[in-house]
Amino acid sequence: MPNQASPPGRDPGPEALIRQALEKMLAEINSPAVPADVWLAVVAGEACRRLIRNWNGWTPQERRKGWEKAARDIEKAAYSTRPYCLRCGTCCRKGSPSLYRDDLPLFRQGTLTRLDLITLRRGEKGYSNEADRFVYLAEEQVKIREKPGSRECLFFQPAGAGCGVYENRPRQCRILECWNPEGYRSLKKNKLLSRKDLLDPEDPLLPVVKSHEERCQLLRLQEWLIRSVEQVGADDERVLEVIHFDRHARTYLGERFGLNQQHLDFLLGRPVEEVISGLGFEVGFEPGNRIVVRDRRSEGRGQRSEVGDRRTEG
Ligand code: SF4
Repeated sequence: MPNQASPPGRDPGPEALIRQALEKMLAEINSPAVPADVWLAVVAGEACRRLIRNWNGWTPQERRKGWEKAARDIEKAAYSTRPYCLRCGTCCRKGSPSLYRDDLPLFRQGTLTRLDLITLRRGEKGYSNEADRFVYLAEEQVKIREKPGSRECLFFQPAGAGCGVYENRPRQCRILECWNPEGYRSLKKNKLLSRKDLLDPEDPLLPVVKSHEERCQLLRLQEWLIRSVEQVGADDERVLEVIHFDRHARTYLGERFGLNQQHLDFLLGRPVEEVISGLGFEVGFEPGNRIVVRDRRSEGRGQRSEVGDRRTEG
């Protein structure tokens, strides 16, 4: 919003706001251009011209709408000064990519293995670039893992080298050009990769994955969590059963097949208790195999604890 940049009580006017936004944008994208190079192109645009012409007569709401349009023009003009990848790593630090069916050759050639992946299950929350907010995922997504405690892609090498698999990077990394927001649209035409694309039908792990998916469905779990909060304890037993089944499946796969945590993150997704927290609930364990479900959604929990990120398409 323009008035967030202005001192309280003082209206800097549309031109100053446009200038500030342009300077900030050029700096953010490491553009070699200076604001003066782009200024004329920006203020010649229809949205900025309207903003400047009508600012004094507009209501706050009209100003907001006018600014949103102008901001898109500013962004376009700024990126037109740098229409190529600098390999600066900004996008790699903001999250790892979701994978698409077109990425399957990367597994055949050995660039990617299951241990590099994490599954976001249907019903989890992930950040949608398109909607610019967290959404419940309508379908399963398989992503490259992020480094522990950060949103940085596993393959990003900060010490100057950039992407460790640049020549064979996933489709999303090639298509989502930060200077070209249109890339999001073309990405949507592709099919997301899912676990079954990577598991052989005869794989002995498949029955466990299927039964976990059935017994630990997240959309249903969320309904139970809500009911347990609204009708104090109504579905506690069901919630507990899901948590126990998830724990049991992980222990079984670990002991029977010797699988480590990374492998389980791909096969079963994140532990259910982590997902519950990401959905904005808290489960407290009490003596006697009892639980207490608390609703933390209004406290903003589940927003940043997500594995889903700016590169997750909902
Ligand atoms: S795969 Fe490479 S280009 Fe893609 S996010 Fe990771 S480090 Fe960046």
